[in-house]
Amino acid sequence: MNRKLISHPYSRRRFIHDLSVNAGVAALAFNGLNLFSSCDDPNNKNKASNMQEGDQKKLGIALVGLGNYAGGQLAPALQQTNDCYLAGIVTGTQSKIDTWKSKYNIPDKNVYNYQNFDSIKDNPDIDIVYVVLPNSLHAEYVIRAAKAGKHVISEKPMAINPEDCDRMIAACKEAGRMLSIGYRLHFEPYNLEMARLGTKKVYGNIKKMSAGFGFPIGDPTQWRLNKSLAGGGPLEDVGIYCIQGFCYTIGMEPIAVTAQEGPKTDPVKFKDVEQSLTWQLEFPGKIICEGKASYAEGLNFLRAEAEKGTFELTSAFNYSGQKGNTPEGPMDLPKVNQQAKQMDDFAQAIKNKRPTSVPGEMGKRDVKIIQAIYKAMATGKRVEIK
Ligand code: NDP
Repeated sequence: MNRKLISHPYSRRRFIHDLSVNAGVAALAFNGLNLFSSCDDPNNKNKASNMQEGDQKKLGIALVGLGNYAGGQLAPALQQTNDCYLAGIVTGTQSKIDTWKSKYNIPDKNVYNYQNFDSIKDNPDIDIVYVVLPNSLHAEYVIRAAKAGKHVISEKPMAINPEDCDRMIAACKEAGRMLSIGYRLHFEPYNLEMARLGTKKVYGNIKKMSAGFGFPIGDPTQWRLNKSLAGGGPLEDVGIYCIQGFCYTIGMEPIAVTAQEGPKTDPVKFKDVEQSLTWQLEFPGKIICEGKASYAEGLNFLRAEAEKGTFELTSAFNYSGQKGNTPEGPMDLPKVNQQAKQMDDFAQAIKNKRPTSVPGEMGKRDVKIIQAIYKAMATGKRVEIK
């Protein structure tokens, strides 16, 4: 089957064909779950429509923290979702309330602040709470949401230490509610294709990988530069995408890491967190993955060097505009709204009582990897990841 697919140039039809093959037999599994559960696969569309015949209700989502990501990406994406909708908001900023209420037709009864948030338990309009706060606040609000009986999505990184991840997972289990992480790229065709090419060994075994994600950060007062709110610097914020890219392309988990902090050209701005860093993750089979995260330069790529050639995304991690190459030519895949796909998939998982492909356990795995990278950076030693 692979030989036949390799002999065809990249095309949307081929991608959809591959998806239907993969989704049908669950051939590409990552952490035991099907990566392709929410793509433009005709089989999945049938599944979705069958599901909706039995359950037409769109699940209500409340966004917690109305910042750039909630306002710029998630709320607009929720205008394109089929299985969920923007039902409520939780904010600490009074002046945002009227704008959001009128823009998204949100009734007063679905507006909360951080003090009265727990009373959301009495609100049947809200099925899912989506926590979009600074990183160190994810744990508290995920746990409070679970205790209020709601399913929860936490933005990435899930938390700033694995202990918080454990508490979040335990709270959701105890409440019998599902927990998912905002890993939108698991629903983005170019990244899914990297996962397929790597895990199916379409170009043979992967020998090594590299990835970089970075941007010059502006406002020196923002929480991303404050360690107690962010947990760390660009590794927490954007390096996590490189870690994710390595894991889903290889389909395994790393076993050890070395890391080096980059120079601080602005020690005042970066007094609390690293300005940039590089790390080398070691996977089973001696695959070395070189990652770089930076708040000083623009980086955005994911590359895999395999026995029969290199496949890569030269624009890998943004909300749109992915570009990819393979030994057979450029990838040409469908464009999707990643966040709409991600949130619809979670709503479908809840309705169909099936696991999410981006669960809390995956978030915890990445938090543990991040901690190991920081430990390797601080000690200069190779750190094993258990
Ligand atoms: P912003 O700073 O733009 O927004 C954060 C919001 O959180 C604020 O607007 C505020 O909302 C609320 N807030 C509550 N307490 C604080 C506090 N102490 N300091 C600052 N804000 C506070 O951040 P982003 O939207 O960029 O990021 C939020 C989360 O989303 C982060 O975890 C980040 O990693 C993640 N993210 C994920 C992306 C993805 O692609 N998956 C992309 C970008 C971010 P209010 O005024 O309503 O109370």
